[in-house]
This record gives sequence, structure tokens and C-alpha cells, in this order.
Amino acid sequence: MVLDRPQTPLVLRERPVPQPAAGEILVEIEACGVCRTDLHVVDGELPHPKLPITPGHEIVGRVAAIGEGVTGFARGQRVGVPWLGATCGVCSYCRSGRENLCDAPEFTGYTRDGGYATHTTADAGFAFPLRAEINAAEAAPLLCAGLIGWRSYRMAGEGTTLGLYGFGAAAHILAQVAIWQGRRVYAFTRSGDKASQDFARALGAVWAGDSDETPPEKLDAAIIFAPAGELVPAALAAVKKGGRVVCGGIHMSDIPSFPYRLLWEERELVSVANLTRRDAYEFLAVVPRVGIKMSVTRYPLKDANTALADLRAGRFEGAAVLIP
Ligand SMILES: [Zn+2]
Ligand SMILES: [Zn+2]
Repeated sequence: MVLDRPQTPLVLRERPVPQPAAGEILVEIEACGVCRTDLHVVDGELPHPKLPITPGHEIVGRVAAIGEGVTGFARGQRVGVPWLGATCGVCSYCRSGRENLCDAPEFTGYTRDGGYATHTTADAGFAFPLRAEINAAEAAPLLCAGLIGWRSYRMAGEGTTLGLYGFGAAAHILAQVAIWQGRRVYAFTRSGDKASQDFARALGAVWAGDSDETPPEKLDAAIIFAPAGELVPAALAAVKKGGRVVCGGIHMSDIPSFPYRLLWEERELVSVANLTRRDAYEFLAVVPRVGIKMSVTRYPLKDANTALADLRAGRFEGAAVLIP
């Protein structure tokens, strides 16, 4: 499923199966999650995508061919391919353990073709071995909602009360991690979205409500997954002195002006960009310990436009996954 131009529907197109270049693997895709970032690519909210582009960066599949010079992978092995597609390895960020901020990165489904397809090639250095027994559709959202969610979660610090604004794919994963660690989770949804609020409570959230509501206790930290700038002052108002608000998305509508007192008393506002491979290895090791239960809605690959529209409208709980 190919995007020719932003703000147009994806088109089903037959292409020859790509061959892996040196350093790459060919992946036969079993499932690819649908992430909000894909909507930002399709809507033209992210600059300079490769066009035409095959979106999708939550890929689970099997190694179908191995390019020259690649070691450590076997044909048929289960792998995951995330948003971070490649880094330069030499810039100051790469050399200081911050490859998520690389000056010359490649991103799967944005600057290189991704997973809304039957096959894709991936830089072998940025593909992760997955356990053989996983369910491919249920594992797919872990590759972005999980990984970048995990980076946001670690950035939120060690406090015991955590607010999650936007209870979609990432929040439903991180809520389970937080509850497993004994934290109290407060879930904030679109106004009146009772289904998502019930979903959050069913997963163990101690409170769920509308995003403009004041939670019953002040929060140590909040993570904003919804792309709505007005949530920034709302979340700052909900955290206690010294609290931290983490913006976990790649794009957000403009943040309205707000009184300085919302930031005063050492409250912090930070964003999270991309992921490092270290984040991935840490998080993928945590997943089986937590026993994360994934809520996924499956769509045939050819229905990618429907899946994107349903994500935009919030018509399912958890995550959407395309099955070739
Ligand atoms: Zn770099
Ligand atoms: Zn994503």
C-alpha cells in the first residue's frame, strides 16, 4: 500500500519482491501495526517523506533472505523492524549514546519503505530478533507504541502516580508496565470517550476521565500521547511541584499560551524523539516479565486506508494491525 502524495489515499500496487542489499535482510511480513505517526506522514504533517513511500514501522515478520555481510540472522527467524531504520554512526549524537537524535537518520515507513506490504528490506543492524512463539499481530504494536512508549515512560521518572493523556496503543501497553511496577495510573481520554475510559479501568487504571478533568490527586508525571497541544497546559496543571510532563508524539497541534505558574515550582516539560536500540533491547526484555496483553484489531493489508480512518476517529481500543 503506497502513498504517492500526502493527503491522498494509499494505493494498492504490485511490485517485485525487493532484494536485500549488503548489510540488509529481506523480511516476509506477517503483521504491521498502524501508528499515529503513519497518519502524520499520510496527512503531510511530517516534512520531506520519500515519495512514493510504503508506510508502516511496526513490522513483525520472518527473515526471507540475507544480504552480503550480515551475520546473526537465520532464514525463517522471527524479527521486528522499528521506526529507527538506520543511523550514521559517526555524528556527535551517535557517538554519545543518543542515536535517537542522529543527524542523518533513516526512518522506516518515512524515508525508507516500510511494512504496509508483503515484504520489505531492513538494515540488519536495526532489526531485532523476536521470540519464536509470539503472536505476530499482537507483537507488532510493541515495535513503536511499545518502544517509543517505553522511552517516554523512562523519561517520566520513578514517581508513583502517572497520568497518560490519550489512551491508545502506547498508553494501553505502558499502563500495564506501570501497574506491574506498582504505580497508580490515571487515564485521560477525549471528552466523553466512555469506551476508552472503561478500557483503561479494565486494565487496572485507578481513575479514568476526560482530558480536561482534574484528577483526584496530583500526579508525579504525565505522558501525552495524543497529538493535541491543549493537553500540555492541562497536564502541567495536573502534576505536582517538581513534576514532569513528557510529550511522546512526533507531531502535535500548537500549544496554547499558558500562565507561567503552571510551569513554576520546577515542573518540567520535555519531548521524546525516536528510540535507541538500547531502548528496544531493554523493553523487549521487559515484555515477557510483565505479561503484557495486547488488544489489537486486525485489518487485511488492502484495507489500510480504513485502518487509518478508524485510528483517526478512535474507533477501536488498543492498536490496529495490518495482515498481508
Ligand atoms: Zn548519527
Ligand atoms: Zn510509530
